[in-house]
Parts: sequence; C-alpha cells; structure tokens
Amino acid sequence: MRLAKLLEGKVVADKIKETLKISVQALKHAPVMASVLVGDNSGALAYVKVQSKIAQTLGITYQLHQLPQDTSEEELIDFVLKLNADSSVNGIIVQVPLPRGIDYMKICEFILPSKDIEGMHPTNIGKVLFGKARIASCTADAVMELLNSTGADLYGKEVVIVGHSEIIGKPLAMLLLEKFATVTICHIATSKAGKLEEHVRRAEVLIVAVGQAGLIKGDWIKEGAIVVDVGINRLNDKIVGDVEFEQAAKRAAYITPVPGGVGPLTVAILMRNLVEAVKVQRT
Ligand code: NAD
Repeated sequence: MRLAKLLEGKVVADKIKETLKISVQALKHAPVMASVLVGDNSGALAYVKVQSKIAQTLGITYQLHQLPQDTSEEELIDFVLKLNADSSVNGIIVQVPLPRGIDYMKICEFILPSKDIEGMHPTNIGKVLFGKARIASCTADAVMELLNSTGADLYGKEVVIVGHSEIIGKPLAMLLLEKFATVTICHIATSKAGKLEEHVRRAEVLIVAVGQAGLIKGDWIKEGAIVVDVGINRLNDKIVGDVEFEQAAKRAAYITPVPGGVGPLTVAILMRNLVEAVKVQRT
C-alpha cells in the first residue's frame, strides 16, 4: 500500500502558469522565445511541441528555428549571435540533444546572459553560486519548486542528490545550500566505491537525476523522506524514473510520479525565465 503523497508537477505548474498569464498581459509586447532545433531528434521535437503549446496558452510568441542535421558548431554559434543581436528576441533556447560534434555547454557560452532562459550561461551559473540568480537551470528550479510545495523546511536537512550534471545536480546543490540544507552529491564514482546505498539511506530529502531505471532500491528510502525522481527511462514501453517507485512510496512521505513529476514543471519554469529575461533586459 502506498503511504506517500504524490508530488505532481502539474499542480505546481498550473499555479505558476496562472501567475505568468497575468505577468505577460501586463507587458507592452508579447515576449518572444526563439527556439533553435538542430536536426530532427524525436525527443527534442516532442519537447518543442509541448513548449510551443504552453507558450501559446500564455500569450508568448514561440519562434521555431529549424536548422539542418549537418549544421556545424560554428554555424550554430553564428545563428545564436544573430538571435542575440535581434532586439525583438527576448529569450533563446537551444534544444538538446544536439548532433554529434556540437558541444552544448560551448553553445551556451555564446547566448547573451540576459537572453539565456535555460540558465546555462557561465554568468548565470555563477550567479546561482552567489545566491543571486534571477534565471537558474529550469530542471534544478523545478525540483526546488516541488520541495517548496511540500512546505518542508530545508534548514539543516540531510539532502542527498544522486547525479552531478551541470544542468541538474550541480546548480541544485547551490540552490539547496542557499536554504542551508546539508547537501551530499553522489555520482558514478560513489556507486563504484559501493557507497551509494549508505548515502541514500540517510537522506531526509532525496533527489535522483541519473537516467538508470531501478538504480535506487525502494527499501533504501528513509521512512518519511521526500523523494524527487528526475530520471526519465524507457522500460518495456513505459516511462519510469530512477527510483523503484512502488517500494519507495511505501516508505516516503512524498514522492514524484514519473512521468508527471518534475517534467511538467520544467516548461512552466522556462516560460517564467523568459518573463524574467524581459525584466532583466529592461534594467
Ligand atoms: P548526465 O548523463 O549528464 O548525468 C548523469 C549523472 O548520473 C552523472 O552525475 C553520473 O555520474 C551519474 N551516474 C551515472 N551512473 C551512476 C550510477 N550508477 N550511480 C550513481 N550515479 C550515476 O544526465 P542528465 O542530463 O543530468 O540527466 C539525468 C536524468 O534526468 C536523465 O534520465 C534525463 O533524461 C533526466 N532529465 C529529466 C528532466 C525533466 O524535466 N524531468 C530534465 C533533464 C534531464
């Protein structure tokens, strides 16, 4: 029997979108998001469709720029520079995955920090480090919103993050430190050293962003923990996270479903970052 309450991203996303609609209406012009899609990756295409639909419901102009699969890194950088120079564009997102040979983090360095709505430019990442971010990584921010929705006070809490990528684990650790959580970051080497289970077992808040179905065993979850599963895996034609959901839900106080947890929130936060970018550009 499941004891945990479900942490559903849609509930929080709907609240953010309601507020955003009002903020967008208050602007003189509809904010413009330029979305750059290189090639025809099916995952990126699906994500673009979701973004475009949500943008439309919020009164945001969504410009899709499709570049061919054989676009080089230099050509993509040139394209980004053109969008930087276009004063009608408020925010830029470069869709991932990019074709082989294009380094996503390098591309992010060329997006103007004030138009970087994914929060991946080194300046914006640096501001997260200093606790002064106006635009942070959408996924990391989505996790913070979900934790916030539980009403839990993170001060002094044992928080364990599994996954140390630039888009999730690292910025999330900084955002959690701002709340005075005690943060442990685990990664592949933690597993290789045989220490993943012991870290997970003492987590009062556990966030997993790896991309391996069943990596976190349900019986490792501390009783009453908050569990946020960011992982997305396809298993027997089903989408699942990284945590054994059924077993974990018997022990946790809160747990995200996958799908339906972090995913629906990231797009709402992307749109919120766009509106924030408009404000940054005015100052
Ligand atoms: P990544 O490949 O950049 O990073 C994976 C991390 O997992 C690394 O820190 C790596 O060291 C760690 N890792 C790998 N194997 C491990 C193991 N056996 N034990 C412990 N740690 C291990 O991945 P990413 O881009 O950060 O994405 C992680 C997951 O989150 C993926 O499933 C991705 O699809 C998902 N994701 C979801 C959303 C969302 O909106 N829900 C957004 C972005 C990414």
